[in-house]
Amino acid sequence: MLASRYFMPTLKENPSEAQVPSHIYLIRAGFIRSLSAGIYEYLPLGLRVLRKIENIIRKRMDESGALELLLPILTPAELWKETGRWDVYGKELFRLKDRKDADFALGPTHEETITDLVRKNVRSYKDLPLNFYQIQTKFRDEARPRYGLIRGREFIMKDGYSFDVSEEDAIKTYEIMKDTYHKIFKDLKLDYLMVEADVGAIGGKFSHEFVVKVPSGEAHIVYCESCGYAANVEAAKFHHNKLPPEELQPLEKVYTPSVSSVEEVASFLKVPTQKIVKTLIYKADDKFVAVLIRGDREVNETKLANLLKALDVRPATSEELKELNIVEGFVGPIGLNLPIYGDYSIEGLYNFVVGANEKDYHYKNVNIGRDIKVEHFYDLASAKEKDPCPVCKAPLKETTGLEVGHIFLLGTKYSSAMKAYFTDKDGKEKPIIMGCYGIGVSRLMAAIVEQYHDDKGIIWPDVVAPFDLHILILNMKDEKSVKSGFEIYEEAKNLGIDVLLDDRDISPGAKFKDADLIGIPNRIVIGKSLNEGKVEYQRRDSQEKKMIDLDKVKEFLQTLK
Ligand code: ATP
Ligand code: MG
Repeated sequence: MLASRYFMPTLKENPSEAQVPSHIYLIRAGFIRSLSAGIYEYLPLGLRVLRKIENIIRKRMDESGALELLLPILTPAELWKETGRWDVYGKELFRLKDRKDADFALGPTHEETITDLVRKNVRSYKDLPLNFYQIQTKFRDEARPRYGLIRGREFIMKDGYSFDVSEEDAIKTYEIMKDTYHKIFKDLKLDYLMVEADVGAIGGKFSHEFVVKVPSGEAHIVYCESCGYAANVEAAKFHHNKLPPEELQPLEKVYTPSVSSVEEVASFLKVPTQKIVKTLIYKADDKFVAVLIRGDREVNETKLANLLKALDVRPATSEELKELNIVEGFVGPIGLNLPIYGDYSIEGLYNFVVGANEKDYHYKNVNIGRDIKVEHFYDLASAKEKDPCPVCKAPLKETTGLEVGHIFLLGTKYSSAMKAYFTDKDGKEKPIIMGCYGIGVSRLMAAIVEQYHDDKGIIWPDVVAPFDLHILILNMKDEKSVKSGFEIYEEAKNLGIDVLLDDRDISPGAKFKDADLIGIPNRIVIGKSLNEGKVEYQRRDSQEKKMIDLDKVKEFLQTLK
């Protein structure tokens, strides 16, 4: 490809709307452009990378035995109503009407569509198992589209769906998909973790996320270096360290003027934060609940939502507390007329402090059973750095990551709701056991840049680079340079190397800047040393340069294949 005929509109400055390296560089290097919030155009360079990523995924999916198909993007509302997701999906679902006023949605994911296909065409256990996938544009009207390709409103996903006759078989398929995902992310040269994920309130059986380690990642992960345990904070467990038992002390109401935060109360009453118990009021869908948790721990709203089987959980507002007659800053469980959920951290805790539900007062020496009733204890706290690993008790580590893949053993959630049944060997009708498997294809392009860049631009791993080789002719007015440049270009093409020749009539400085920005792994520079019969070779991922004799270039190109 000749740069003079190509479309690679590079920018000197960082775009003002971009904050993370992938967003900055993909725009500056001319890979993508934004049309509207969270909606991107893939320019020729960007499309080349995207296709390479897609093909790596496709190859591994095909090898696993999964069958590629392509489902419609435009999906009728009836399907979504069958599973209840027409309502549950809320504003994220892009909805539209046809000329007859019938409702449709642009597919954000395709469980309903594929389940419909399968229920219409599968009758017996003999028709199963099946495992399908597609690589397709998805639409989600995200509340906060941001970070370029990382969170778009229109994006490309590989979504896959499996159908088995038994849970045992479904788990086997799930394991094959897990292995396939490992292969894909290794092929893509990503530094990633597979983590245990939240299965959601109505969720399936189990689920894993594949998370690329990047500072800008929105997923919070805890992991154990000693045994390999890793989980999304939403789902992470940890081993609870308990305080030693104590003799019960008499309950005491104490005056605590204007002290309400855990730290303030702890230092005012000279007790450790572990002996302060927070009473937190949440609104779960349409009801209010109280959570009791030790002062040094935070409530995990996902765990709480799962426990309550609620779709939406959030802290009660000041106005709501007032309406409930609860004194903000001094909330306590004694006399509280709400369902109380105790976190494991308060199980076996003695003589602790709680709010008195009266301005400027707390209770001291509170004990469960004697002063308050808490019947069950639940895992409601978020794991954090240094907590003991739930498996081996070594201190956990925390990191942020970007979710690039998600696999889910769904069970019969969709097949039951949509009556996707099969007749088993015993003649009985049973719902098909499903799994679903997603990969953020366009997000992966950003994830790779997040892990592969420096202060000059992108450093593409060879497997996904838009071109294998970048030839720069520094002086287009020098006939000898032009001749050699084009000869090397032709030779490389004949060898099947994807090559970009910078034949533009611009300054050498501008050519180097663009080459660093675009990040093609191999570079041959035709400059002054041509007078000594040499060209310069450099890799984008190292500072090393080496001179190659012109008559050895052909031989050298063979090594780049
Ligand atoms: P997230 O928590 O990031 O919103 P999700 O749980 O909604 O992700 P899934 O429904 O599991 O995502 O989608 C499968 C994959 O598609 C995700 O692992 C992610 O890589 C990608 N993905 C999801 N939403 C977006 C988006 N708005 N833009 C780009 N990629 C996305
Ligand atoms: Mg999402």
